[in-house]
Amino acid sequence: MTIQYWRIRDRYYRLIGSKCQNCGDEFFPPVYRCRGCGSEKIKDKEMPKTGKILTYTQLHEPLPGFEAQAPYYLAVVRLSNGARVLSQVVDSPAEKVRTGAKVSATVRRVRVDGDSGQIVYGYKFVVS
Ligand SMILES: [Zn+2]
Repeated sequence: MTIQYWRIRDRYYRLIGSKCQNCGDEFFPPVYRCRGCGSEKIKDKEMPKTGKILTYTQLHEPLPGFEAQAPYYLAVVRLSNGARVLSQVVDSPAEKVRTGAKVSATVRRVRVDGDSGQIVYGYKFVVS
Protein backbone atom coordinates (compact mmCIF):
# COMPACT_ATOMS: atom_id res chain seq x y z
CA MET A 1 0.00 0.00 0.00
CA THR A 2 1.39 3.35 -0.89
CA ILE A 3 0.98 6.32 1.40
CA GLN A 4 -0.73 8.15 -1.40
CA TYR A 5 -3.36 5.44 -1.65
CA TRP A 6 -4.19 5.63 2.05
CA ARG A 7 -4.43 9.38 1.87
CA ILE A 8 -7.12 9.23 -0.76
CA ARG A 9 -8.79 5.94 0.15
CA ASP A 10 -11.81 7.73 1.56
CA ARG A 11 -12.57 8.75 -1.97
CA TYR A 12 -12.50 5.11 -3.04
CA TYR A 13 -14.53 3.66 -0.20
CA ARG A 14 -17.12 6.35 0.11
CA LEU A 15 -18.82 8.45 -2.50
CA ILE A 16 -17.35 11.81 -1.60
CA GLY A 17 -18.66 14.65 -3.69
CA SER A 18 -19.14 18.35 -3.15
CA LYS A 19 -21.88 20.51 -1.74
CA CYS A 20 -22.14 24.16 -2.60
CA GLN A 21 -22.45 26.25 0.58
CA ASN A 22 -24.14 29.01 -1.38
CA CYS A 23 -26.96 27.32 -3.29
CA GLY A 24 -26.92 23.80 -1.83
CA ASP A 25 -26.35 21.93 -5.11
CA GLU A 26 -24.45 18.66 -4.77
CA PHE A 27 -21.96 17.29 -7.28
CA PHE A 28 -20.08 14.11 -8.01
CA PRO A 29 -17.22 13.85 -8.74
CA PRO A 30 -16.10 16.72 -6.50
CA VAL A 31 -15.88 20.19 -8.01
CA TYR A 32 -13.94 23.29 -7.01
CA ARG A 33 -16.55 25.69 -8.31
CA CYS A 34 -20.32 25.23 -8.22
CA ARG A 35 -21.71 24.43 -11.66
CA GLY A 36 -25.01 25.96 -10.59
CA CYS A 37 -24.11 29.37 -9.15
CA GLY A 38 -20.33 29.63 -9.68
CA SER A 39 -19.55 29.90 -5.96
CA GLU A 40 -16.21 28.60 -4.72
CA LYS A 41 -17.61 27.93 -1.24
CA ILE A 42 -17.50 24.15 -1.67
CA LYS A 43 -17.33 21.47 1.01
CA ASP A 44 -16.85 17.71 0.81
CA LYS A 45 -20.10 15.85 1.14
CA GLU A 46 -20.73 12.11 1.26
CA MET A 47 -23.17 11.18 -1.45
CA PRO A 48 -26.20 8.94 -0.90
CA LYS A 49 -25.59 5.31 -1.81
CA THR A 50 -28.77 4.76 -3.77
CA GLY A 51 -29.98 5.96 -7.12
CA LYS A 52 -31.37 4.97 -10.49
CA ILE A 53 -29.77 4.06 -13.79
CA LEU A 54 -30.13 6.96 -16.22
CA THR A 55 -28.35 5.28 -19.08
CA TYR A 56 -25.98 2.37 -19.49
CA THR A 57 -23.84 0.51 -21.95
CA GLN A 58 -22.39 -2.97 -22.08
CA LEU A 59 -18.68 -2.94 -22.76
CA HIS A 60 -17.08 -5.86 -24.54
CA GLU A 61 -13.76 -4.10 -25.11
CA PRO A 62 -12.51 -3.49 -21.60
CA LEU A 63 -10.37 -0.58 -20.53
CA PRO A 64 -6.79 -1.47 -19.55
CA GLY A 65 -6.90 -3.16 -16.15
CA PHE A 66 -10.49 -4.36 -16.54
CA GLU A 67 -9.85 -7.30 -18.91
CA ALA A 68 -10.93 -9.94 -16.41
CA GLN A 69 -14.30 -8.28 -15.96
CA ALA A 70 -15.41 -8.03 -19.60
CA PRO A 71 -18.10 -7.83 -20.67
CA TYR A 72 -19.43 -5.45 -18.06
CA TYR A 73 -21.92 -2.67 -17.68
CA LEU A 74 -21.01 0.96 -17.35
CA ALA A 75 -23.86 3.19 -16.22
CA VAL A 76 -24.66 6.78 -15.45
CA VAL A 77 -26.46 6.66 -12.11
CA ARG A 78 -28.52 9.56 -10.82
CA LEU A 79 -28.13 9.47 -7.03
CA SER A 80 -31.06 10.32 -4.79
CA ASN A 81 -29.64 13.83 -4.28
CA GLY A 82 -29.53 14.47 -8.03
CA ALA A 83 -25.76 14.06 -8.50
CA ARG A 84 -24.66 11.83 -11.36
CA VAL A 85 -22.04 9.08 -11.09
CA LEU A 86 -20.41 7.09 -13.87
CA SER A 87 -19.76 3.61 -12.53
CA GLN A 88 -19.73 -0.10 -13.22
CA VAL A 89 -22.86 -2.13 -12.50
CA VAL A 90 -21.93 -5.57 -11.13
CA ASP A 91 -23.52 -8.74 -9.77
CA SER A 92 -26.82 -7.98 -11.42
CA PRO A 93 -28.75 -10.21 -13.85
CA ALA A 94 -28.61 -8.82 -17.38
CA GLU A 95 -32.40 -8.49 -17.58
CA LYS A 96 -32.42 -6.25 -14.50
CA VAL A 97 -29.82 -3.82 -15.83
CA ARG A 98 -32.03 -1.27 -17.53
CA THR A 99 -32.84 2.43 -17.55
CA GLY A 100 -34.70 3.39 -14.39
CA ALA A 101 -33.55 0.38 -12.35
CA LYS A 102 -32.85 1.16 -8.68
CA VAL A 103 -29.23 0.61 -7.70
CA SER A 104 -27.15 0.84 -4.55
CA ALA A 105 -23.45 1.45 -4.10
CA THR A 106 -21.17 -1.31 -2.90
CA VAL A 107 -17.41 -1.57 -2.44
CA ARG A 108 -15.69 -4.04 -4.74
CA ARG A 109 -12.30 -4.88 -6.10
CA VAL A 110 -11.72 -2.53 -8.99
CA ARG A 111 -8.39 -3.64 -10.37
CA VAL A 112 -5.01 -5.06 -9.50
CA ASP A 113 -2.10 -2.71 -9.98
CA GLY A 114 0.17 -4.63 -12.34
CA ASP A 115 3.43 -3.27 -10.95
CA SER A 116 2.85 -3.59 -7.22
CA GLY A 117 0.16 -6.28 -7.19
CA GLN A 118 -1.85 -3.93 -5.02
CA ILE A 119 -5.59 -4.53 -5.13
CA VAL A 120 -7.54 -1.34 -5.51
CA TYR A 121 -11.08 -1.22 -4.19
CA GLY A 122 -13.75 1.21 -5.14
CA TYR A 123 -17.46 1.71 -5.41
CA LYS A 124 -19.66 -0.03 -7.94
CA PHE A 125 -23.41 -0.35 -8.18
CA VAL A 126 -25.70 -3.35 -7.85
CA VAL A 127 -29.31 -3.43 -9.05
CA SER A 128 -31.39 -3.55 -5.86
ZN1 LIG B 1 -23.94 26.86 -5.94
